[in-house]
Amino acid sequence: MLSAEIIAVGSELLTPERTDTNSLWLTEKLMDIGVEVKLKTIVGDDEARLEETIRDALKRSDIVITTGGLGPTEDDVTRTVSARAAGREVVYHEELEAHLRERFRLWGREMPETNKRQAYVIEGAEILPNPNGSAVGMLLNDGGKFLVVLPGPPREMQPMFEDHVLGELKAVSGKISVVRRVLRVSGYGESALDELISPIYKSYPSIQTSILFNRSEIEVHLSSSAGTDSESAAIIEELVGKLVGVLGPAMFAKNGETMEEVVGKLLKDRNETLSVAESCTGGLIAMRLTDVSGSSSYLMEGVVAYSNDAKKRTLDVPDETLASHGAVSSQTAEAMADGMRRRAGTDYAISVTGIAGPDGGTDEKPVGTVYIGYADADGTRFLHMTIPGDRYLIRWRSSQAALDYLRRRILKKQ
Ligand code: AMP
Ligand code: MG
Repeated sequence: MLSAEIIAVGSELLTPERTDTNSLWLTEKLMDIGVEVKLKTIVGDDEARLEETIRDALKRSDIVITTGGLGPTEDDVTRTVSARAAGREVVYHEELEAHLRERFRLWGREMPETNKRQAYVIEGAEILPNPNGSAVGMLLNDGGKFLVVLPGPPREMQPMFEDHVLGELKAVSGKISVVRRVLRVSGYGESALDELISPIYKSYPSIQTSILFNRSEIEVHLSSSAGTDSESAAIIEELVGKLVGVLGPAMFAKNGETMEEVVGKLLKDRNETLSVAESCTGGLIAMRLTDVSGSSSYLMEGVVAYSNDAKKRTLDVPDETLASHGAVSSQTAEAMADGMRRRAGTDYAISVTGIAGPDGGTDEKPVGTVYIGYADADGTRFLHMTIPGDRYLIRWRSSQAALDYLRRRILKKQ
């Protein structure tokens, strides 16, 4: 696999105000053609540091891409510095100056003399045209090593890369096709999951696997490299099949779907309906479900019943239940789901009641105590959890747990 590194040039990228997004975009494009990005650097508009960075990069990487610093002003130094780092001169191109003058003439303006700087190109480099700006890019193939110098503005950099660079890099990266998949798993911690599945994915050396924790679920990122798309896809499919074998319903998404999409699809396929009654999640579950287009075919309604009075009035939670067990209890959760389902006339209802904190916890019911209620035609059930995290995470994870509980209950029926 060819290695690449990306150097983002610009002092503004070292301030809190601006972010280097070019390297994210470039990394995705490079991954697609089987080129591995091994290093990313951000350098200010500083000649000495930039020269050293490009020089070092050319020593260790097959492909070096810089973005930014190609403008006409004094602080835009990438053009001359990249030439110096590559041990080359810059040469003046009359036709570039003529082209620049023409651009300015079309705007009805005189070209400032400083723009002449943009008519210089690294000796021996291919000129990359820029239909969206004044700075041309450069591609130098130095005995098999590539130095690609691109402008900073994404709307100039992206088409230049796609139209003039991607093809050349693809030709040298060999016949590698990369297929990527994101799997999502609920109900496991990161290390427990890794312990379980690492013996399996390690037996697929052509697949790069990374495991990431994401708020309330684990993501397994797979990237399969083989000669053709169909070969890469077939290998990845085989691995996914084996992972499903050990994880069963814990793997809720095989293609990067969100929990709300998965639950929605289940309901849609079964032609069934849902209503939700929320206390501590304050509508988050309904919001997530309605984020999915087409959700009106299965989500009928949602209630945010925050106070005891609302739980009684809107969901018919009995007075005695609240009085003897409290609002945060399995009995209240089940009564909320039952009341919601009866009122909405849906196949399922789920409910959440809990203590999101940071206040309101007791020894008996600490912050993070959450009860999920569930109701269907056969009756009601509940799930009790103690969820770690701050208020934001407890609420998010509660919404995830409720959707996951519903998903697992529905799967049991199939
Ligand atoms: P320059 O080519 O250095 O004159 O860059 C011009 C503008 O492009 C900057 O002011 C930024 O708005 C944008 N830009 C430069 N580098 C990046 C980057 N790495 N990611 C996103 N935007 C960038
Ligand atoms: Mg700049």
